[in-house]
Amino acid sequence: MGTLDGKVAIITGAARGIGKAIAERFVAEGASVVISDIMEDAGKATAAELAKSGKAVFIAADVGDAASVAKLVEGAKKAFTGEIDILINNAGIVHSAEFLDLAEADFDKVLRVNLKGSFLVGQAVAKVMVEQVKAGKTPGAIVNMSSVNARLAIVNQIPYCVSKGGVSQLTNVMALGLSEWGIRVNAIGPGSIATEMLASVNTDKTARHRLFSRTPLRRLGEPDEIAKVAVFLASDAASYVTGQTIYADGGRLGLNYTVPVAD
Ligand code: NAD
Repeated sequence: MGTLDGKVAIITGAARGIGKAIAERFVAEGASVVISDIMEDAGKATAAELAKSGKAVFIAADVGDAASVAKLVEGAKKAFTGEIDILINNAGIVHSAEFLDLAEADFDKVLRVNLKGSFLVGQAVAKVMVEQVKAGKTPGAIVNMSSVNARLAIVNQIPYCVSKGGVSQLTNVMALGLSEWGIRVNAIGPGSIATEMLASVNTDKTARHRLFSRTPLRRLGEPDEIAKVAVFLASDAASYVTGQTIYADGGRLGLNYTVPVAD
């Protein structure tokens, strides 16, 4: 018996990285998973891989586009039981630029995916979840992907940090707005996780030192270490948890100095 037996979950940005790790855990825990992404080939490959051990399909969608999101939600309803029990709002992008150089279009691009995307998919799925509650079904759960950068600024990641601060507050307001139906909304705030987003850390010693010296556990997190938190927040084990951002960050937010790291 898996923790998520019989549940249908949509995971955005699940072709690779943290989203893919969440999809893998969810399938292992018995969920039927809709893997969604703008990267069609990689998304289809991930879904095909997971379909060998459980239930997984791929639906292409751009989270920043309302029409695309509507198609995702309809497709997800058709794919399995007709219901949606869990949403993981995981799709996210970065853009590096110094404050004085940041172009308006690049600010908009990041906010569109990370913040507006979480709102658009969150609202569309929440409407389905509310109808399910009205029909007597168990309330669903939504997990947004925030970051330690909701709280900690990076000087050349302006729209990213702003978007993640927004995602944590979006989590609060969604949790309040959906509480009367018992639908829970939480966020995960990962620290530095070993995905494509942090590929430079493998090759750049200075970047690695900078990160590890600010991480009490002195290592990157693995995508599966975020996936395990997602399982908890999506499952009945978190039945009284809503409106929270859980920081899985190797201790980063609690540190007010740097720790020594080996080369
Ligand atoms: P990643 O780049 O490996 O994966 C992100 C996925 O989102 C990709 O598959 C990409 O194609 C998809 N995506 C991008 N734009 C999209 C759009 N418009 N619509 C749908 N999908 C889209 O990154 P990751 O490291 O796995 O990050 C996943 C989430 O975790 C992001 O929200 C990120 O901000 C967050 N996060 C990551 C870290 C980290 O250290 N890796 C730390 C904190 C938070």
